[in-house]
Amino acid sequence: MSKILKVRARQIFDSRGNPTIEAEVFTKNKSASAICPSGASTGTYEAFEKRDKNNKRYLGKSVLNAVNLINTKISKKLKGQIVHNQERIDTLLINLDGTRQKTKLGANAILAVSMAAKKLSAKVKNLPLYKTFLVKNNFKLPYPLMNIINGGAHANNGLRIQEFMIRPDRAKSFSDAMRISFLVIKNLSKLLKKKKLSTSVGDEGGFAPMISKNYQALDLIVSAIKKSGFTNGKDISICLDVAANELYKKKKYSIHSKSYISVDKSINEYKKIVKKYKIKSIEDPFAENDWISWNKLMKNFNKVQIVGDDLYVTNLERLKKGFLNLSSNAILIKLNQIGTVSETLDVIKFAQIIGFKTIISHRSGDTEDTFIADLAVGTNSNQIKTGSLARSERVAKYNQLLRIEEELGKKARMNKIH
Ligand code: PGA
Ligand code: ZN
Repeated sequence: MSKILKVRARQIFDSRGNPTIEAEVFTKNKSASAICPSGASTGTYEAFEKRDKNNKRYLGKSVLNAVNLINTKISKKLKGQIVHNQERIDTLLINLDGTRQKTKLGANAILAVSMAAKKLSAKVKNLPLYKTFLVKNNFKLPYPLMNIINGGAHANNGLRIQEFMIRPDRAKSFSDAMRISFLVIKNLSKLLKKKKLSTSVGDEGGFAPMISKNYQALDLIVSAIKKSGFTNGKDISICLDVAANELYKKKKYSIHSKSYISVDKSINEYKKIVKKYKIKSIEDPFAENDWISWNKLMKNFNKVQIVGDDLYVTNLERLKKGFLNLSSNAILIKLNQIGTVSETLDVIKFAQIIGFKTIISHRSGDTEDTFIADLAVGTNSNQIKTGSLARSERVAKYNQLLRIEEELGKKARMNKIH
């Protein structure tokens, strides 16, 4: 009954209109499917995303070879495996690939299968997906990090910083967190219109107005928070994802303006904006190999959440290095950076042991798959980052969290931010 019969895959499309993989795992009378997301500001150390570079029919972006590998090699390997044995399934996939960055089969192929198997196991057990991860009871809901102004690689407005987010720190419940975020977003929209700025959105659903200075985005958010009747830094915190890999050249950074300045000067500028705008979290403040600068920044802030995304790429070895180097105090978790559900859970477990906050994240190219919403609750992760209240692929995750909250009923609790 719970043995895998076969695995099938197909090429479908993500939110940016790029091809991606949907895998479907079958037992005798049940099946479940999952879709792999795709990033734009990817880290060098991420697991490999396999695309048909030479197939001109899809401008080199199709995933037909990876789909074929699932239908043949992977399906053959997993046939007969017990669907509940996720670690064994993932180990078989890792070994079948046999490379460090999963270049042979592609992490996109492997992850779609790994996630589909996890979903099928829950289905066979007749359990909601969130109940099948690390936490068995006392489930906690994550605080949403809503990316309400998009810049960097996710928009074409020239804003240096990639993501300007809000986090409703005083929300009493997940639905309350959604209501607070909703109000700020609606007020931000009004403000943009008043200033004759565009309210069209970027890849992650945040507004992408034609402004290019970080402080312009920050001022707009502060005004929207105020207009909604909330206090910045108390009810709501501003959080950033700098994605500094994209702003690095010869030991200098162009984070704070178009010109490249030294690390020390960049840290000074960070200090100024953290103070002025009461910023509570900064993701990827420096580039993925610049461990020394991360540590310098940590020494300057003791109350700010410093998040490693491209720095760690959801990789246990890199996380250990960051822990020893005192590089950050939080980690962003993206399943497709590492490529299997089991490896992702190992990273989350370790991060929680060393006292790092875990933040489950979407990718800028995402889909209707809501796996990460369940993952956030099922691992007791503090926060989830899955875009703004626009674009159905983003809203789908928030809606799934609302369903989970409803199902938990009186037992539903918010996680701890501090
Ligand atoms: P990506 O961006 O999915 O384009 O990599 C998200 C992030 O940097 O957090
Ligand atoms: Zn990031």
